[in-house]
Amino acid sequence: MPEIAFPWQQEVWSQLTEQQEHAHAYLFSGLPGVGKRRFAHAFAAFLLCEKPAQGMACGRCRSCLLREAGTHPDLLLITPEEEGKAIRVDAIRQLVDFMGQTAQQGGSKVIVLHPAEAMNQNAANALLKSLEEPTAATYLLLVTDQPGRLLPTVRSRCRAQRLPTPARESALAWLAESVPELGAEQRLVLLQMAAGAPLRAAALHEMDAVQLRMGVVDNIKALLKDKQSPSQVAESWAKIPLELLIDWFCSWTLDLLKLHTGAITHAENGDMDVVLGYMAKHVQAQELMQWQDWLLAHRSMTLGKANLNRGLFLETLLLEWKQLLKKR
Ligand SMILES: [Zn+2]
Repeated sequence: MPEIAFPWQQEVWSQLTEQQEHAHAYLFSGLPGVGKRRFAHAFAAFLLCEKPAQGMACGRCRSCLLREAGTHPDLLLITPEEEGKAIRVDAIRQLVDFMGQTAQQGGSKVIVLHPAEAMNQNAANALLKSLEEPTAATYLLLVTDQPGRLLPTVRSRCRAQRLPTPARESALAWLAESVPELGAEQRLVLLQMAAGAPLRAAALHEMDAVQLRMGVVDNIKALLKDKQSPSQVAESWAKIPLELLIDWFCSWTLDLLKLHTGAITHAENGDMDVVLGYMAKHVQAQELMQWQDWLLAHRSMTLGKANLNRGLFLETLLLEWKQLLKKR
């Protein structure tokens, strides 16, 4: 089977593969869950294929068969040793060695590296050297959903290719096909939660996010009514992915700001409409801005995987959130 990128990537795919010459380094970016990794792997397959057909890897040549078996000697995949951990300089040294070797199958060599923002400082500096001295017929494909966290010097040496978020219809159609057990309503809720990114929506379904969210909203109501303490709520959230919680608070805060200024009359987060509507009437603009700054600063800290005491962090977050109502 030839590798096919997602339907919403077709245009970018054609533009990229129809070029006579390819850049030695690409940076694929886009929202989490729009299919960047799949795209990068499909492009790697295309670059390695001996006889691409109709703008795609043929799926039949020796190179394609080796790749499908996961044993292509001229394809190198670099990821953190453990999910959420850094890509270290040792991995980049391996990359440098790989670049120095002759292609064993006589064609191109391809490196797929993701998530690129996981490279620590030493790793990024080591990579920079290889970007400055490209090797012929060797392609480096970096994948990231946070290009802003890469060294500007790394970014500027790659050809940037942003991958699109599909139109809603296209995303819903993909979800219906890929996760057939979902009803139409669930698909909509998940897609909204995922900011329109269909693979992210499917992942949210995997982690039971809709159910978790209902519990979290109940906890927030109980917190504001003094029926649960911040530490009790923090404890009950022990198993909920932190990124999910922070995403939700960021989205609620945006709603709060818009409600407060009158830009909207109902929260876009429908399940929090009553809570946010009440809060918007009782907060002050300056407090709200300060809270948002605090939240965003901590968001990048947690996404940056800085050492974090999760329980303490959540408790502080909940205290701050509750204080919004008291600071007047
Ligand atoms: Zn092939």
